[in-house]
Amino acid sequence: MLFKKKKFDRAVILKRDVLDSILSYCHMKHPNEGILILKGKSKHGTINVDGLVIPPFNYTGPTFAGFPQSFLPFDLSYVGSVHSHPSGSADPSVTDLHNFFGLVSVIVKSPYTDDDIFAWDSGGKSIRLEIV
Ligand SMILES: [Zn+2]
Repeated sequence: MLFKKKKFDRAVILKRDVLDSILSYCHMKHPNEGILILKGKSKHGTINVDGLVIPPFNYTGPTFAGFPQSFLPFDLSYVGSVHSHPSGSADPSVTDLHNFFGLVSVIVKSPYTDDDIFAWDSGGKSIRLEIV
């Protein structure tokens, strides 16, 4: 079988100040989960994140976080979401994959350091994450 489609090396690129905002937001929400929308651009499989939006009417607890997508304005700069896992596992839960938003789901596990942040696609596969 011929497969000519070029395979792009997928990556999420996160600006340093965006990462710092995510980490402090997660600290603030602890022991509950925190959830934010990632703003940025996607090109050739690379997702550049350059901003954050607090989703309206978001709901969070110790083991869940979400937001009603029907309240969001149509905005092509929304590339995904990030939420925290206070329990300390960075794996996406079944619920996370069911409520997948955008192109990437970033999960930050407790204790929310630079090493506790991971990016996943809608199939639960890990995506490379770079901090610039
Ligand atoms: Zn989760």
